[in-house]
Amino acid sequence: MSYKNFPMVSKVVFGRGCFNQLGDILSPKRLNSKAPFIYIVDDVFKGNSWLTSRIPLSYDDKIYYISADQEPKTSQVDELVEEIILAYKERPSGIIGIGGGTIMDLAKAISIMLTNDGESKDYQGWDLVKHAAIYHVGVPTISGTGAEVSRTTVLTGPEKKLGINSDYTPFDQVVLDPELTKDVPKDQWFYTGMDCFIHCIESLNGTFLNAFSKTYGEKAYELCEELFLDNNLSDEEAQDKLMMASWHGGMSIAYSQVGVAHAMSYGLGYLLGTKHGIGNCIVFDQLEEFYPEGVALFKKMKAKHDINLPQGLCANLSDSELDIMIDVALSLEPLWENALGKHWRKTITRDKLKELYLRM
Ligand code: NAD
Ligand code: ZN
Repeated sequence: MSYKNFPMVSKVVFGRGCFNQLGDILSPKRLNSKAPFIYIVDDVFKGNSWLTSRIPLSYDDKIYYISADQEPKTSQVDELVEEIILAYKERPSGIIGIGGGTIMDLAKAISIMLTNDGESKDYQGWDLVKHAAIYHVGVPTISGTGAEVSRTTVLTGPEKKLGINSDYTPFDQVVLDPELTKDVPKDQWFYTGMDCFIHCIESLNGTFLNAFSKTYGEKAYELCEELFLDNNLSDEEAQDKLMMASWHGGMSIAYSQVGVAHAMSYGLGYLLGTKHGIGNCIVFDQLEEFYPEGVALFKKMKAKHDINLPQGLCANLSDSELDIMIDVALSLEPLWENALGKHWRKTITRDKLKELYLRM
């Protein structure tokens, strides 16, 4: 038995308003005056001077405002990398992603592809990246995905939706400023928050569970209950705690895996473009037989916050479309193995998945 030796985020700063320190954090990392810092910023912040006036720009630094309406694609990563290479003679000093999972994943992927040849689709998978990425920083503005701590960047490519999982993927620096999440719309807060809750359920009920994953998972689970059920917290406390729940949930799956909801949600995302947070909710809602207690709690949380999930998403899909989703879901073998053990193929047949999808 050999154990995985995982890299982690090297530096992290936490606190309300710590985003103000970004300039001080970055300046020692500037390679020279011509090597810019490139900011990848969610376009929801365009024109929002409360946030953007604190982005420290000097020399040739540049902000790219990017929409998070669609999850990152390999083609989008390749285009941005091409643009950056053409625009600057020198390799950038660093890439800073300011936004949710979509934007943080883009920043991670760009930093990897600036030092690795070829197209990003060639690196979707496990441990395919050859060269260290350039310095990259994550600044979450919505909490739940755990993308700020994880060793992956999830991309939709021509053939699959799969992460670039590598030792070079984690951020070199993360800036956890819970205040940045204050204007997240309520439904989105719930969907992305539930991503964290589902990470806990899938990790804690998985066959890969171990004390490392369990301790992080239990803490995040406890925080989710406090946040989404008890509801006795001030807005500030809730923002602080959800940011830490996301971190712990992400740490929990680092040393285990996610499970059924994620496998099936990737299928929805690939075919229909359903986003990760809401997609996980739509799937998880139907998974009583796999996660009875987790799903019961989820339904309580959904009712408490008056969340109405879309219905009938798959009702009118053709068999060939269903097959595409089933192929994507089944290809995520480690997720199934974590959820159901080595013999998962006995229970998870194509017919079984079709029946589940048709309920969504
Ligand atoms: P997101 O980044 O897609 O953003 C969701 C919405 O919230 C967007 O409309 C965005 O503009 C808005 N938003 C973000 N911050 C805001 C703020 N402060 N105020 C107002 N609006 C704000 O959401 P997400 O759920 O964080 O990320 C989903 C993505 O994360 C997916 O692409 C998924 O694949 C990825 N993901 C990655 C990992 C990983 O480990 N790398 C893990 C889970 C999910
Ligand atoms: Zn997730």
